[in-house]
Amino acid sequence: MKVLVLGAGQLARMMALAGAPLNISISAYDVNSDSIVHPLTQQNLGKGLANAIADADVVTAEFEHIPLPVLAQCQQSGKFLPGETAIKAGGDRRLEKQLLDAAGVHSAAYHIVNSEVDFNAAISKLGLPLVFKSALAGYDGKGQWRLKQAEHTAALWQEISAFLAADSSQAIVAEQFIPFQREVSLIGARNRQGEVQVYPLTENHHVNGVLSASLALPGNEQLQQQAQQMFTAVANQLNYVGVLAIEFFDVNGKLLVNEIAPRVHNSGHWTQQGADVCQFEQHLRAVCNLPLGSSSLVRPSLMVNILGEDTVPEQILAIPGLHLHWYGKTKRAGRKMGHINVSGATTAELKARFETLISLLPEQAFPELAQMAARLN
Ligand code: ATP
Ligand code: MG
Repeated sequence: MKVLVLGAGQLARMMALAGAPLNISISAYDVNSDSIVHPLTQQNLGKGLANAIADADVVTAEFEHIPLPVLAQCQQSGKFLPGETAIKAGGDRRLEKQLLDAAGVHSAAYHIVNSEVDFNAAISKLGLPLVFKSALAGYDGKGQWRLKQAEHTAALWQEISAFLAADSSQAIVAEQFIPFQREVSLIGARNRQGEVQVYPLTENHHVNGVLSASLALPGNEQLQQQAQQMFTAVANQLNYVGVLAIEFFDVNGKLLVNEIAPRVHNSGHWTQQGADVCQFEQHLRAVCNLPLGSSSLVRPSLMVNILGEDTVPEQILAIPGLHLHWYGKTKRAGRKMGHINVSGATTAELKARFETLISLLPEQAFPELAQMAARLN
C-alpha cells in the first residue's frame, strides 16, 4: 500500500516507521515548500501533488493547518481519510465548536467574536475569566489571550481588533475559563466499518502552553467510559476513519472537551512502547482498511517531550524500558525535537525509572518533571 501524508513533520516520520513492517510506504507532502518528500530523509522526490495523489492508494494528514485548495484536491480523489470535513473541523475552532454541539458533547461555553459588539457580548454572556482563541492556525497555545479582570478589557480589545484587522479570514472564539483539575486526552481509531478502539486516557502536563509530558496509567473506569462515549459521538458525527485525538478538561470527574485533533497526537506517543499496536500503525491500519489492533495498556508508560534540545545524556539509554525517539530536525528554541518513552511493569517500577531519568536530565531544559513523578503513586 502507498499512503500520501499531508504534512512532512515528525508524525509523518513515525507513520513511515510504523508502516514499513506492513509494507505500507509513505510519502509526505511538505506544505511549506509545496513538494513531495521522503518522510525520513526529507529528500525531495521530484513529483507534484497531483501525481502523488494519483500514485497513492490512500491520502491522509498529519496536521490540520492545510491550505483549503489542497484539501479540496485531495477530497476529490476519493482517497482522502479522514477527509476534508474532519481536517477542517480540527483547523478552525468555529467548525470544531459546531461539530461538538452537533455531536452533543460538552465543551466550554463560547461566543464567536468578529467585532467589538461580539467582544462585549461574549463578556456579558460568559462572564470573566475568559480565554480568547484565534479560530485559525492555533497550536501550542499560540494565538490565545486571557481576560481575568474587567479593567483590562479595553486594552485587550485593542490587541484583538488589530489581530482581526490583519487577516480577514480570522475570527476569535471566546471561551469560558475552565477551572480544571487536570488535562487528559483520549486517542482512538475508527475504521471504515464504524468500529472504535480507544487507548486508555492519558494525563497531560504542559509547560508554557506546550505539552511537556504524558502519563498512561491503569485508569479510572468511570472516566474512561465517559471519554469513550464522547469520542464515539464525535467520531460517528464525522463518519471518521483513522486515529482521532480528543483533549479534555477533567473538572471533578466530569469531562469537557477542550479540542480535537483529527490525526495522531503528541499525547499518544507513549503507545509506541505501552501498547501492542501504536497510534501510528493503528492510523495506517484504519485508513488502509486493515483490521484494527489491540489498544489496551500493556504496561504503565509515559512520554517526555524534548523541546529545543538536540542532545540528551547518553546514559539515559541504560534505563530499562526507556526508548529515545529523535525527529531529525534542526534545533530551534522550544521546538519539538524528539521524545523519550519510559515503561515499567508496574506503576512503582515506572516511577523509579522516571526518577532516574529526571536525575540525568538537565532540569532547566526539562522543568517540572519532578511534580509529574509525584503523580505516579
Ligand atoms: P495544542 O495544539 O498544543 O494542543 P492549542 O494551541 O491548540 O494547543 P488549546 O489546547 O486550546 O490550544 O489550549 C492550550 C492550553 O491552554 C490548554 O491545554 C489548557 O491548558 C489551556 N486552556 C485552553 N482553553 C482553556 C479554557 N477554556 N479554560 C482553561 N484553560 C484553557
Ligand atoms: Mg490543545
